[in-house]
Amino acid sequence: MPAAGGLGNSIRNGKKIGCTAVQVFTSSPQQWKSKPVTDEMAADFKAACSETGISEIVSHDSYLINLCAPDHDKRVQSIEGIKGEIERCAKYGIRYVVSHMGSHMGQGEQLGLEGVVESTRQVLDETPESVTICMETTAGQGSALMAKFEQLAFVLDGLGGHPRLGICLDTCHVFVAGYDLRTEDTFQQTFEAFESIIGFDRLRVVHCNDSKKGLGSKVDRHANIGQGEIGPDSFRFLVNDSRFERIPILIETPTENEGHEKDLALLWSLCQSTRG
Ligand SMILES: [Zn+2]
Repeated sequence: MPAAGGLGNSIRNGKKIGCTAVQVFTSSPQQWKSKPVTDEMAADFKAACSETGISEIVSHDSYLINLCAPDHDKRVQSIEGIKGEIERCAKYGIRYVVSHMGSHMGQGEQLGLEGVVESTRQVLDETPESVTICMETTAGQGSALMAKFEQLAFVLDGLGGHPRLGICLDTCHVFVAGYDLRTEDTFQQTFEAFESIIGFDRLRVVHCNDSKKGLGSKVDRHANIGQGEIGPDSFRFLVNDSRFERIPILIETPTENEGHEKDLALLWSLCQSTRG
């Protein structure tokens, strides 16, 4: 949601279109530099949360972060970048930071995953305990890790199932990474695999997006709900599945033509039970 005038306004703007959960950027996701969070900024943000009653707030970290960057300086910069993000979240009172974690950039999957484990351990050791890192499932574009459930499980295991590690599941990303969701059968198969490899007890956030590209294409292009390759059935399964109850479900779909308002209304209309 638009944050002009302060991050609290994202929450207020979310409330206007009926959001019960909001994802924010605490600084520009395309830049390393960020402004410190002042007491006034934090106070306004917390005021917006209490005014609106929206308590499910998730932050998304910078797209530049690569926790297994082969270049030493880039890796240090990435560790400092996510630490800064976590510190800003702690100040705002935000519990969850979603991160794409990293791309192996030609080192190979194994070295990349080991690098992610090592950097994440340092980040967890050096940041406030109130914030959980939610590793996002990715599309697997280029050398991006975290496109396979096994890769997420590797990092969880490598960190001994750290209590401040969770998962953000993006429906568009898992679909283009090769996990089908379109029919009741394939939806169940995908989430049985998720349960046995990762476990629903680690799920903290869902990114609910349709996909402009096909199953297994590894191309990350979000579409409005029901208008992409995944189609509406899958989203009906999702919003009525008790395994996703109490998990913030966020849309990151195209905003043109009131895309968010329409997608949100559509998701509510697909819910068979009453709100709440
Ligand atoms: Zn996402």
